[in-house]
Amino acid sequence: MEFKKCSRCGSFFVSDGNICSKCSIKDEQDIKKLKNYIEENENLGSLEELSNNTGITVRNLSRYINNNEEIKNISSNFKLNNSEGFNNISVNL
Ligand SMILES: [Zn+2]
Repeated sequence: MEFKKCSRCGSFFVSDGNICSKCSIKDEQDIKKLKNYIEENENLGSLEELSNNTGITVRNLSRYINNNEEIKNISSNFKLNNSEGFNNISVNL
């Protein structure tokens, strides 16, 4: 058995994937919220604005965009008005 450190809460767990089972529930809720927000807002603004408006931390937003194909595809349809947007996302990890 291999222990992994959850990339959301930092606790150790045994499972496939990058996050523990508790956090996968929170991730699902965040991703649902994020998808709704993206559907309703043409201009996503910077990552910080997106974080303020959705209540999802920048760290978690970065993780979703990098790890979730669906979010990645949706977010690439929008032009961000700020150089600190999704383009620089790998720097924030
Ligand atoms: Zn966790």
